[in-house]
Amino acid sequence: MNDRRPRIGVMGGTFDPIHHGHLVAASEVQAWFDLDEVIFVPTGRPWQKGAREVALAEDRYLMTVIATASNPRFSVSRVDIDRPGLTYTVDTLRDLRTERGPEADFYFITGADALTQILTWRDVDELFAMAHFVGCTRPGHVLDTEKVPKDVTLVEIPALAISSTECRDRVAAGRPIWYLVPEGIVQYINKRRMYRGT
Ligand code: ATP
Ligand code: MG
Repeated sequence: MNDRRPRIGVMGGTFDPIHHGHLVAASEVQAWFDLDEVIFVPTGRPWQKGAREVALAEDRYLMTVIATASNPRFSVSRVDIDRPGLTYTVDTLRDLRTERGPEADFYFITGADALTQILTWRDVDELFAMAHFVGCTRPGHVLDTEKVPKDVTLVEIPALAISSTECRDRVAAGRPIWYLVPEGIVQYINKRRMYRGT
């Protein structure tokens, strides 16, 4: 008999595009905490990324579905892209709680770059009550550990210095993104002619 509360990882991101850094981080945290599931949540309009035009939510959502499809523990939620307005993590966690009920424990997975800013996020006290926060340390990013709230667990991700920015820049410059992102994502980006630059 397993009477353990379900443990659910929540990986928010712009996923513009999703890459192997995201997938390795989710997989590592899944194993670390023995999570039953990791839900990838593509953002609607991320409040931190006001300036840059992000790809269509529907494209980012589909790429996330394609990239996660083969892992039985990975799933994708539309809560953020279906909610109008800017995306705030507190709303993401509220919606997932409503969807999943009171029984689940949430583990919110975030990367090193976002970590030191968590304290500036909306409703930060409520956030820490709603989920356990897991920070992925990423290569090439020096963490100012004094700015990391102490209830955040840090998990080191094997060196994968991949970012979506790098992938977009490569596509725009006609350079390959093979093996930085799953094969299906290379093909989706080509098919939809994304990130070609102007
Ligand atoms: P961009 O370059 O556009 O900022 P990104 O690569 O940082 O994109 P996001 O969609 O912004 O991707 O990231 C979603 C989450 O994944 C964030 O918490 C981010 O810190 C984390 N993350 C991104 N890349 C990696 C990586 N290589 N290893 C571990 N975590 C990562
Ligand atoms: Mg980022």
